[in-house]
Amino acid sequence: MDLRFSEAEIAFRDEVRNFINDNLPADIRAKVRRQVHLERPEIDAWQKILFRRGWGAPGWPVEHGGTGWSVVQRHIFEEETAALDCPPQSPFGLSMVGPVIYTFGSEAQKGHYLPRIVSAEDWWCQGYSEPGSGSDLASLRTRAVVDGEDYIVNGHKIWTTQAQFADWMFCLVRTDFEVKQQEGISFLLIDMKSPGIEVRPIITIDEGHSVNEVFLDNVRVPRGNLIGREGKGWTYAKFLLGNERTGIAQVGGSKRRLRRLKEIARAEHVDGRPLIDEPSFRERLAQVEIELMALEYTNLRFLADAASGRPLGPETSVLKIRGSEIGQRISELAVEALGHYALPYELPREGMNEPPVGPEHGEGLVGTYLYGRAYTIYGGSNEIQRNIIAKMVLGL
Ligand SMILES: Cc1cc2nc3c(=O)[nH]c(=O)nc-3n(C[C@H](O)[C@H](O)[C@H](O)COP(=O)(O)OP(=O)(O)OC[C@H]3O[C@@H](n4cnc5c(N)ncnc54)[C@H](O)[C@@H]3O)c2cc1C
Repeated sequence: MDLRFSEAEIAFRDEVRNFINDNLPADIRAKVRRQVHLERPEIDAWQKILFRRGWGAPGWPVEHGGTGWSVVQRHIFEEETAALDCPPQSPFGLSMVGPVIYTFGSEAQKGHYLPRIVSAEDWWCQGYSEPGSGSDLASLRTRAVVDGEDYIVNGHKIWTTQAQFADWMFCLVRTDFEVKQQEGISFLLIDMKSPGIEVRPIITIDEGHSVNEVFLDNVRVPRGNLIGREGKGWTYAKFLLGNERTGIAQVGGSKRRLRRLKEIARAEHVDGRPLIDEPSFRERLAQVEIELMALEYTNLRFLADAASGRPLGPETSVLKIRGSEIGQRISELAVEALGHYALPYELPREGMNEPPVGPEHGEGLVGTYLYGRAYTIYGGSNEIQRNIIAKMVLGL
């Protein structure tokens, strides 16, 4: 295993860096740095810039509009875009439903949906979870019944991220109540403008709006919007969840936030000296940095395996567990570093002309800390990831 970048990979890294520095709009970059929730037009603007450069779908094969990059190039791209404050690309089309469509969809579905994802014409959301069906997803009850050329869909999805922006939802529905739970599930593509769909916001603890409830009341969905075969949705859903977990280590984002944490710890003082020189804080900062470096090397080891042709398996759950825990730890230390300035929680200051209560370097940090409780829940909770490792990797 060779973890060093080749000369060609270093040249590629420089090309990505230069492209970002020349093309990322300054206002968007500033908003990402301040950790403010982004709106669809801002995320779209960056996606369109990448699309025009031919980098719209870093993880897709060339024949479907992707870059065809190696796993190492993809890693470099993720690292650089996170380090240089690029908005994250919306994962629902690119990392989730796109690969399902090009792997299991019909030619017509591929031709219609894939180009629209890469060019940011269509936004997608993920309609998996329901009240009572999160970890136990196979118990979902949203039902789809055939009526002529359509399905009629009734049900209630919850925690649907970005549903308020989405044009389409990929949705797990129950088409057969008589068979084993997993065998009665189908994978449907639903137009969010269909009559009978209502999106209700859920405001999270940071006062942000990213998650929603989606109610489906007699929604007509053409049978042509079924992916693959009826009753095989669980297979496609599991394929998709595997992709979701490998992208969730967030090494680049954590490195960026760690850098910001160090800047704050240099600027804040305790007992007349910079916080970064205070032994107990310094030790905890070093500890999380070591853990992040270990995660990065674990991630690189997986990538090296994948590059040499070994398919990634359930062991990638460790990336989700450690990545989410490290992300939470960094934001805990940032709140601690802010001290009493973290007490009056200020909402994102977009459009406000009053000075912030605390130092400018504290902006957005408390919101990130509060929202960060969700890191260990979404994408399959960490307890479930530990179960996967126990059963499928350790054979317990
Ligand atoms: C911010 C956020 C965004 C989300 N976005 C989306 C989205 O876009 N689309 C979507 O479909 N879903 C989304 N989710 C839902 C997410 O996938 C679920 O919240 C998650 O799967 C957990 O399900 P649950 O909330 O029903 O909790 P439960 O499954 O009820 O779990 C409650 C607790 O019990 C633990 N637990 C459950 N079963 C076991 C077990 N067998 N062994 C050990 N512990 C167990 C869990 O780990 C958890 O701590 C989002 C969630 C959040 C918080």
